[in-house]
Amino acid sequence: MGKQTAALLLAAFLLTSCSSAENTAPDGGKAAAPSSNASASAALAGTSTASPSIQPSAAASSQSPAASPGASVSPAEGSVDGGAKQKEQAGSGTEVKVPLLYHMNKNYDIKPNEESTNKKVVLLTFDDGPKEAKLINSIFDTLDKHKAKAIFFVNGYRIKEHPELLKLIQERGGIIGNHSWDHIVLKDKPYTAVKKQIEDVQRIVKEVTGVAPVFFRPPHGAGGDVGRKVAAENGMLYMTWSNGSLDWTMKEKDTGKTEKLIKNVTDQLHPGSNILMHELPWTAEALDKLLTTLASKGYGFADPRSIELKMR
Ligand SMILES: [Zn+2]
Repeated sequence: MGKQTAALLLAAFLLTSCSSAENTAPDGGKAAAPSSNASASAALAGTSTASPSIQPSAAASSQSPAASPGASVSPAEGSVDGGAKQKEQAGSGTEVKVPLLYHMNKNYDIKPNEESTNKKVVLLTFDDGPKEAKLINSIFDTLDKHKAKAIFFVNGYRIKEHPELLKLIQERGGIIGNHSWDHIVLKDKPYTAVKKQIEDVQRIVKEVTGVAPVFFRPPHGAGGDVGRKVAAENGMLYMTWSNGSLDWTMKEKDTGKTEKLIKNVTDQLHPGSNILMHELPWTAEALDKLLTTLASKGYGFADPRSIELKMR
């Protein structure tokens, strides 16, 4: 499959697809007030995601995949025809071959490639680490109990402070994703600055773990076309999320955090939910109950390594 053919297929797809899907990126994030929950819900409903509560620099504008076709044709791609020949995904350092069963759609949901594959799954993600061994171990104890895998979207400045914590995530079987170096809003930054923010993380993760990330999530969900472009240039699948736990809006002193977190997730729950969580103590504490709740509703946990690196 040549790149040109891939580009043609993609162009044809974009022409025939619903244009409203192009503006559904939930550009909320940690800077957002609790109403970013509504933003994520709006994204799910396929409507525009105007989020007035978000600080101006992080506000959504047009994050159109169509505006940067290069971002959708990842150089790491080996297949655009649903075949199983995609280059092996690395991420956890444990060189396990996982069948490519899922792909990501433009709402950042996980969708099965074949009718026969279970569509009732969620993708678990934890952002903004690595912070603390205790937290990381607690999260993995729970993931292991539920036989679940997750992506850990990490920041370069934290890795530099604690490379051993990144190693810990790898050793415990986490899939490491790139969340930029400084956790800044990338969408309005010049290309060279964004390139540095993203590629410095690729470099340090490779140095520490031996493998560069294949997943990218921009801080505050605001990567813009420039973030998409640099992610694609590095062979990464770009994603924000489709189900925000809102754990980032909670404070230590708040009561009932576990119940609130579970309600936030279950209120938005749908097949393929891409669940945004963070490396936070109350999230680690709520995790067992959350995963039990999801399982009781019939949901499985998608292995991130089973997701194709091309959005479609
Ligand atoms: Zn973040």
